[in-house]
Amino acid sequence: IQWYPGHMAKAQKQIKERLKAVDLILEIVDARVPESSINPMIQELGQNKPILLIMNKADMADPRRTQQWIETFKKRGITAIALDAQHKAKLPMIEKVAQEILAEKLAKKRAKGIRNPVIRAMCVGVPNVGKSTILNRLVQKNIAVTGNRPGVTKNQQWLKAGQTLELLDTPGVLWPKFEDPTIGSKLALTGAISDAIYHPDDVVIFALEHFKEYYSSQLQKVYKVTDAELEEPAAELIMILTKRLGFKEDYDRFCVKFINDARQGKLGRFTLDVVPVEAS
Ligand code: GDP
Repeated sequence: IQWYPGHMAKAQKQIKERLKAVDLILEIVDARVPESSINPMIQELGQNKPILLIMNKADMADPRRTQQWIETFKKRGITAIALDAQHKAKLPMIEKVAQEILAEKLAKKRAKGIRNPVIRAMCVGVPNVGKSTILNRLVQKNIAVTGNRPGVTKNQQWLKAGQTLELLDTPGVLWPKFEDPTIGSKLALTGAISDAIYHPDDVVIFALEHFKEYYSSQLQKVYKVTDAELEEPAAELIMILTKRLGFKEDYDRFCVKFINDARQGKLGRFTLDVVPVEAS
């Protein structure tokens, strides 16, 4: 998907409309870029409904930073959980935390005589963060909830996704942030933006600088980077590694390989969003 202002305005309107019907917004972000893959407008689109932030692909992220981000979000008043959607045993956590977030509202409903109040939620997030994976795995048999459920537009269904959890059948695709090139590089490296809109060398220069600073041993292990080479600027390192891999002077070929390696987890676990100092 490539985003243009027209697309964004349309998506915004549709998601806002659909969110009117939910009790809770499940915003999915990529745990490797939790801050960069958040949509800054979600509070407004959701008309200040409660949000459960799901840091998915936690299996690929730096666990220390994941923990720090959860604490940072907490300080900002946002409940965040780490998830690996491919690990089935972890999925019930979503419903459990959703019940905690909505405890007061659910208690009121029970007091009014509703025995098993349901939680209606919708998954939203930028492309490729795992929205469909989470939805499909929570809704295993695709059982539509029948009966009269107000507030949903035509052709949409609530699907049973747990004891009390119901999800809208299609996730909301949010647009990524574009404000600075660093965010673009981070989203490219984790696959949230399409290959057509970034330059591989920009992405890899950014990534190599980050890895040199925080994950140098992973570079040493995967590409046999020496201690002396770690001192080289990223652009220089690209030339060295291109040659080492036998790609002669085809630097783009190395850059594309590096990006694929990162996306496939071959560079080990990493998180590109550094936790702000106030939180550490
Ligand atoms: P969507 O565009 O947000 O709906 O993302 P998808 O659900 O299509 O997932 C994008 C890719 O990420 C797919 O290849 C998934 O298999 C993979 N994926 C989803 N969740 C996880 C996760 O928790 N860990 C890992 N390693 N991969 C995941």
